[in-house]
Amino acid sequence: MKMKLYEEGEKSKAICAHCRQLVSTTFLRRDVPFSDGKGTVKNILAAVCDVCDRVVAVPAQSTPAIREARQKEVKPIEAQLPAIYLDVLDLAAYMIDSTNSTEFRKVLMMLYLHRFASGEYPRTRLINAHRSAIEHFKEHRGAARRRLSMKVTPRIAEDLRTLMDETTLSQTEVIKSVIYQIRSDVIEAQKPALLKELGVLSIIYA
Ligand SMILES: [Zn+2]
Repeated sequence: MKMKLYEEGEKSKAICAHCRQLVSTTFLRRDVPFSDGKGTVKNILAAVCDVCDRVVAVPAQSTPAIREARQKEVKPIEAQLPAIYLDVLDLAAYMIDSTNSTEFRKVLMMLYLHRFASGEYPRTRLINAHRSAIEHFKEHRGAARRRLSMKVTPRIAEDLRTLMDETTLSQTEVIKSVIYQIRSDVIEAQKPALLKELGVLSIIYA
């Protein structure tokens, strides 16, 4: 396939959906909204209709920038958990700062997922946490379950994927293990340096 590199100010022709005709266009830098309307890509080169000033086409050279902007979008992570796991997150959030809301669940989870995935916290600790969680929080048939739903960055979604691949735990099992580790560190051990760090995060993010 032949590709052309377009430059700012260059002229072309295209069908404009708004003008409903073949129009002359000029390549200009524009902020282009995603087709689903959620977010925009800044300053990419686009063919702009000379009649109505709307973006009518985006050249191939602008595609990587669109992809990059898409990457920065949020990804939902969901799990149905025994209610006790959400209580653990919420008590930990409360202990860090009594004004924290359930929004802080996400901050706690992202920090831990990233630290486990990066190796800052060893994999063995996650595996042990999984074992302890199963022993400690026995799951009785018909016990109340609640949904943990978080929108995270693609980077954190990737961290979760890494942990699943490298431990063979399911997504729900990784999430339970992480929450159990949060219980150990924050609620049980009340590690001072960690609590201080989380206190700062609660000011910034929650
Ligand atoms: Zn037009």
